[in-house]
Amino acid sequence: MKQTLKKILYTVRPYSLPEVFNFKIGYNFHTEMVYDDAIYAKLLSFCGQYLQITGKQAICTLMTGNSPKVAAGMKAFKCPDQKLSDRYHELSTVATLGYHGHFYLNPLHWQRYETEIRSNNFSKANLKEQFDNDLGWLKNYGINHNGLYAGGWWFMNQHLLALLIDAGFKFDFSFSKSVYFRNQFSHQLMVRNYIKTGQNFEIQIPGKGKIVEIQNLIGAPSSPLFPDYTRNLLKILDKEQTNVTGVINSHDYDLNQANTLKLFERFSKMKQISFFDAEDLLTNSFNANNRVVQIPATAFKGPAMNY
Ligand SMILES: [Zn+2]
Repeated sequence: MKQTLKKILYTVRPYSLPEVFNFKIGYNFHTEMVYDDAIYAKLLSFCGQYLQITGKQAICTLMTGNSPKVAAGMKAFKCPDQKLSDRYHELSTVATLGYHGHFYLNPLHWQRYETEIRSNNFSKANLKEQFDNDLGWLKNYGINHNGLYAGGWWFMNQHLLALLIDAGFKFDFSFSKSVYFRNQFSHQLMVRNYIKTGQNFEIQIPGKGKIVEIQNLIGAPSSPLFPDYTRNLLKILDKEQTNVTGVINSHDYDLNQANTLKLFERFSKMKQISFFDAEDLLTNSFNANNRVVQIPATAFKGPAMNY
């Protein structure tokens, strides 16, 4: 019934993308449940088909076997670390891997909502320890994160940016103009620096280095109706930023394979849309003229930041 009503609505109001906009679109999976045979098979199949349609690789930012949440899933599905690692290596033949961090105030109590580090409930010591352990797991299993990061629960702040830059990360997909994909830090940084939807920007920390931000535009569709997607995209577009670069995201576990592939088939026939992947980013083909945002040294001072 709802679908029928929507179809009627969309014949009256099709929510077309104005021709003035040019889009460069990529895909970012928050990859969390590869230990589950069915989810992994679907992810692998999707990435192969996505590559055929777009000519580009999806970016799969991964959670490691060090995460308490992933470790519990691995135990339940009888998937040891080596098997998870083997699957990540296999996935890297059709997608580009990166790192997806979820952090806890106390990893032992990971099932309790209040221990999830999402915004202001933050501890620098816990963040660093879990970040280092995750990178250690990737290194131990020979998995290259390719300098690509996406934040779990959209957690971001200056300390995580500093850790990422120190560890050699080059690109981050944790910022968005969509209300669903941000925390207070990333939202305020974008507002204060007049960052518009789809505008790449470079965050610099004096004395440390820089990382480039490629925004998350919107989630992958669960609906087969194309205007369901464009309607949501139109909500965040800014007519002053007509070159729109960004990723569409989903988890591996909530991917609607058929509808998402259908969306990309439709995109591939539209003149105003082209695709990019990690190789395009890492080979510097469109990184010129990024807006520069500096995090001042004062952002790292104060007693609250030292625990
Ligand atoms: Zn996640």
